Amino acid sequence: MIPYGRQEISQGDIDAVVDVLKSDFLTQGPMVPKFERVVADHVGAKHALAVNSATSALHIACLALGLGKDDWLWTSPVTFVASANCGLYCGARVDFVDIDPHTYNLCPVALKAKLERAREEGRLPKVVVAVHLCGQPCNMQAISELAREYGFRVIEDASHAIGGKYQGEFIGNSRYSDITVFSFHPVKIVTTAEGGMAVTNDDGLARKMDLLRSHGITRDPASMTHEPDGPWYYQQVDLGYNYRMTELQAALGVSQMQRLDDFVARRHELAKRYDQLLAELPLTLPWQHPDSYSGLHLYVIRLQLNEIALSHQAVFEALREHGIGVNLHYIPVHTQPHYEKMGFQENDFPQAMAYYREAISIPMYHGLSDQQQDQVVSVLKQVLGKAT
Ligand SMILES: *Cc1c(COP(=O)(O)O)cnc(C)c1O
Repeated sequence: MIPYGRQEISQGDIDAVVDVLKSDFLTQGPMVPKFERVVADHVGAKHALAVNSATSALHIACLALGLGKDDWLWTSPVTFVASANCGLYCGARVDFVDIDPHTYNLCPVALKAKLERAREEGRLPKVVVAVHLCGQPCNMQAISELAREYGFRVIEDASHAIGGKYQGEFIGNSRYSDITVFSFHPVKIVTTAEGGMAVTNDDGLARKMDLLRSHGITRDPASMTHEPDGPWYYQQVDLGYNYRMTELQAALGVSQMQRLDDFVARRHELAKRYDQLLAELPLTLPWQHPDSYSGLHLYVIRLQLNEIALSHQAVFEALREHGIGVNLHYIPVHTQPHYEKMGFQENDFPQAMAYYREAISIPMYHGLSDQQQDQVVSVLKQVLGKAT
């Protein structure tokens, strides 16, 4: 089976992890700060906080922004559940904004219309999570203008997007947001097995997230309520979690980051080949906004079902039967039973549902060879009845 995504591990990656195993520190050593510096410098952010997953990063980002009970968090329905769940973790309520039919990202026009209504009803969001689906950045300039006008904070969920650019600058410099979050799950662009990171330019937010990822404990006398009792002393000044990343993960991350530009460049080569090889098929191929250089975590095709004899499910199953490990990103979050209970209806977000009924993620990862890609294309042609 050719998977839709997979990690790429080099001998250098393995050596870096083994070196940590032989060292004095398996956690809370020098590698985590090193990884944070490498990522912060690469994306152009002032601070970076490594944690054990992007889900944890989203949680502490929301807490640092003061999200709590009676607040609202808004995000796109076409995302992994974690982009919304972080709001629920904080006791806040969650709502969604429909997607743009071309980029599949949260639509700024729909956002503005919903904000207008929310202002009248006195239920404006405190936080909007902008998800860069497939690696293509959202229209961050429009979202940040709305943030100023309506007074909400912005988190970029860039789990798909490390190494990508918006308006010529790396995603993560947080020019148009408060905090940007990355995931290092093995299917993502760079991996630490499990792992995530929050980056920000705001000293206060960085300090809060640093506390929250490690029990709310500080060893910095300046942050304590009184002089330390002695050299052993620490204080718990907030209620935090154990969301720390290990040294093994950070070493893997540092080693992987050296190849980030290659990873993304290869994904672009593959996307270009797909664009050409699939052009004649009854498919809607990914559209890239000229302002964006996608991280290309995913390559999503949409079936033009009125021109295809098979159903969406039948095409999906046929591809899997022929050894192509396709997937679907994502089941709209508002249709999940946990969210349906909150009163959401399927047709609340029609663009998201239209996308869901047609979308298939086909293989896209650094190690995919041209030959394997040709096989994906030839199976697709066969399944769609367009083999020559
Ligand atoms: C993968 C992913 C997450 C969660 O990442 P983890 O590191 O697995 O917690 C969150 N949001 C999006 C959009 C993702 O793709």
